[in-house]
Formats: sequence, C-alpha cells, structure tokens
Amino acid sequence: MGKAVGIDLGTTYSAIAILGESGKAEILANRDGERTTPSVVYFQDDGSVLVGTMAKRSAAVAPLDVVDFVKRQMGNPDWRFDAANGRQLSPEEVSALILKRLKEDAELYLGEGAVTDAVITVPAYFDDAKRRATKDAGRIAGLNVLRVLNEPTAAALAYGEEARKDGTILVFDLGGGTFDVTVMTITNDVYDVKATDGLHELGGKDWDDRLMTWLNQQFQNEGGPDLTETFESEADLREKAEAAKRTLSQAPSTKVILSSGGVTKSIPVSREQFESITVDLLNQARDLTISLVEETGLGWAGIDHVLLVGGSIKMPMVARMLEEISGRPPLRAGNPDELVALGAGIQAAIEAPSAGTPRPRAIIKDVTSQGLGVAVLADDGSGRLVNSIIIPRNTKIPAKGSDAFTTSVEGQTEVHVQVTQGDDEDFAFVKEIGDQLLTIPPYPKGAPIRVEFAYDIDQMVSIAVYDLTTDSLLGSFEVDNTANLSDEDIRTATDNNNDTEVG
Ligand code: ADP
Ligand code: MG
Repeated sequence: MGKAVGIDLGTTYSAIAILGESGKAEILANRDGERTTPSVVYFQDDGSVLVGTMAKRSAAVAPLDVVDFVKRQMGNPDWRFDAANGRQLSPEEVSALILKRLKEDAELYLGEGAVTDAVITVPAYFDDAKRRATKDAGRIAGLNVLRVLNEPTAAALAYGEEARKDGTILVFDLGGGTFDVTVMTITNDVYDVKATDGLHELGGKDWDDRLMTWLNQQFQNEGGPDLTETFESEADLREKAEAAKRTLSQAPSTKVILSSGGVTKSIPVSREQFESITVDLLNQARDLTISLVEETGLGWAGIDHVLLVGGSIKMPMVARMLEEISGRPPLRAGNPDELVALGAGIQAAIEAPSAGTPRPRAIIKDVTSQGLGVAVLADDGSGRLVNSIIIPRNTKIPAKGSDAFTTSVEGQTEVHVQVTQGDDEDFAFVKEIGDQLLTIPPYPKGAPIRVEFAYDIDQMVSIAVYDLTTDSLLGSFEVDNTANLSDEDIRTATDNNNDTEVG
C-alpha cells in the first residue's frame, strides 16, 4: 500500500504533496526538480505527450498541438481537443494526462506503484458537473479519488497546521484562472467554513490577456503587424506578456521585445501602466471580497488574518488593495503557490492514514458554494419558471434539504423535476443541472410531492422524489449530467490514458 497524495490540479500550475513521516506536509518535486508543474499538455505526432515546462515552451512553436487552461473547460460537454493524430480529447482526458505525469513523478520519488489514493482540490465554487469531471479525470489516470477538497479550505489547512493558531481567517486565492474567497474559523483543529464565493473566470490569465492587448497595440502603433494574426506570434506574445507581468511584481518597469513580419521593437512597460490597465479586474475581486465579509456579518474587525494564496497574489496591487479594505497587511504563509497542494496532502493523510505517519487531528466543516433548487411555476399564473431554493448556498456539507410541491393539473400523470444549481430566484440566471420525468397515478390537482436533495461531502448532488399520497419513492437519481462522461467513456479514456506515454 502506497501513501495517499494530495494534488492541486491548477488552471496554470499543478503540484503534488504528501504528509511526511515527521508529520509535516511536503511537496514532491517533479522529475525536473520543479515544485510545481505547468498544467500544459503537448501532443506530439507519434501519439506521446509532454506535460509541464517543456509543453509550455512548445506553445509558441506548435500552438495547435498544445493545450493549456483546460481546467476552465471542466464540465463543458462541448469542448474537445483535436489532436494531430485524429484523437479527440475531453477536458477530463486532458486533465488525466496532467495527473498521470504528476503520479509518475511522485512514484519516481516514492517508489513504483506507490501512488493510488489521492485527494484532488477544486475551486470552492465548482459546481456538480465540474466536480464530477475532476473525479473522473482522476479515475482515468488510475487514481482512487478519496475526496475532492475545496482549494481555499486546503490552503487554510496547510496554514493552520503550520501556524497552530486559532482565529478567523479570510483566504484570498487568486490563481491563474480562478478566484476564490472564503471565510473560516480555526478552533482546536476544527476548520469551520463560514462562507465562500468566487469568480470562475478571473485569474492571472486575465491580467496576461490585458497586457497582451496593450503590448500588441503598442507594437502596431510602432508599425508592427497584428500579433494575433498567427497562432505562433500570439503564443509568443502570451509567453512574453506573462514573463513581463512577473518581472513587474519585482521591478517598477521592464521592456518587452516583440518581433514579427520583419519588425522588431522594444516596448517599455511600467508597473503603474500595467496596474492601470488591469485595475478593473482587481476591483472585481475586491468587490466580491467586501460583499462576502458583509455576508458573514463579522465585519473586518471580526477577521484576524487575510491569508494570501495563489501565484497572482505576488502582484503588489493585490496586497495593497487588501490592506486598504481590511486595514491590515495580509499574511503570506510559505509559498503561496504550494499551500493548496500541501493542504491536500494533509487531508489525504486524514482520509487514508498510513503506518508510521502521525494522523493529523484536523476536522473540516465545509459549506456548499452554490444553492440547490428546483424549477417551479410562478404563483402569478404567468407560466414563468422561478427557482425555488432547497439547499441555500453556504450550508454545511454533507447537506440534505427537501420541499413539498403539489401537482398543478387535474389527473396529471407526470412530474417533471428540473434541478437547478445557483442562487438566483430567476430561473434564467441559474444552471439547470439535470431533470427527470417521473410517472405518477392520475391524482386530483394539488396532490403532494416531496423532492429531497442531498449534497455529499464532495458537494455532489443526489435527488429523491416522493409521492406523499402513498408515501412511496417515485424515483431517485444522481444528477444525470449530460455534461459528464458515461462509464463507458471513462473506460475507453482509461485505456487510452494507459496507452499514452507521458514525458
Ligand atoms: P492555478 O492554481 O490557478 O493554476 P497558481 O496559483 O499556480 O494558479 O498561480 C498561477 C498564476 O500566478 C499565473 O497566472 C502566473 O502568471 C501567476 N504568477 C506566478 N508568479 C507570479 C509573479 N511573480 N507575479 C505575478 N503573477 C505571478
Ligand atoms: Mg490554484
């Protein structure tokens, strides 16, 4: 039996960790000695793939064969990557190749066959489909996924186990593709999440995109061609923009050398300039943070620390903004890029203790990040659908909730259950995550039906519907997610994953 690992499967960078024998979580460096691995996959002509830094470097020379930011596609049934060898890969399959590389690298360190059990982290706001997709990616890579754990919770766990200090913390996690903010208390090893929110399309990539647009404009003003015209020049621009962004975290200004169509220019860019073209992005994170603190009713006075997590918090504008709104300098614990993986490693040791390693005492009490409800007809007779929330956002998980409804016409023989995920009362602003048509006897109008919803510990949804006239179960189902792979798809994907050589 191997040791259970924790995996931070990030939008831009991934990392893997275990709880060491000393009782401290440790990052397992990859085969190249790096502590994080770029979540980038390069599909080569011979069917083999490269994952990580080499794949990332290949983006400018072979942009059509390289996939990055695949995490943004998790749970999206319409996205497929067309590999040069004719294979079409789902987001789960691409993610599974990243996981395979992490697993193999960890085994290089721990011994062959050593890695089977894993805790994989997900952004707190990930919905049912995205969580399932993440678990499926793990399965495809041959991992037994013990649990999916919310990233901010994992980061807090890593911080708390190290700092051994009780208090209320706000975890501000700004990564490459996503933003999560969570408020929790740590008391006697109990990590109690109070509230969580996030923006799934806000991260370092958006800062890169802004800088790319700006640099491209400057380049054209100086007589250069549009760099987005070819995939190669666009990928080159992306690489240089990200590098410049990182430099600007250290230095007040830098220069970017761009070259295309026989034109070469050196474009100066200052931190001030960079901040002014991205301040609205930062403001989105700020506004959400402020409203979450309001929602908890604690106020800033009730929050002891602001914990910075994720690579993008290295931009000085982030800490400055947080100090402005919270009135105190935020806290950096260890390396902000590694905290999530370390926390996952700790949780893995809690889920699957191994001989010789002390089992951490931490207990996590997390909450749902999305409301769960059902579509019902509006009272006003307009025929409009409204969202009736059954399990509100920020309810402790595992969670159960139920509500009773009545049939709306005489002799109705079917009930249509439309399950929603989201917090809005307007049906148009929530996601329908599944529906089921259930048969009932032809009761008079007003016959009572009860719908019972449950969120499990991974925040995945199951539903049961009861006929209250006879007190019998009409049907129960997991969300029949058209967004997710079937068991058959997963088997095929697993075989393909096994057959693919990952370098
Ligand atoms: P994720 O978990 O979403 O993959 P990470 O937490 O690893 O992301 O953060 C990656 C992001 O952090 C990338 O957008 C990267 O460009 C950015 N980043 C890393 N280091 C720096 C830095 N020194 N300055 C600014 N941004 C940085
Ligand atoms: Mg992350």
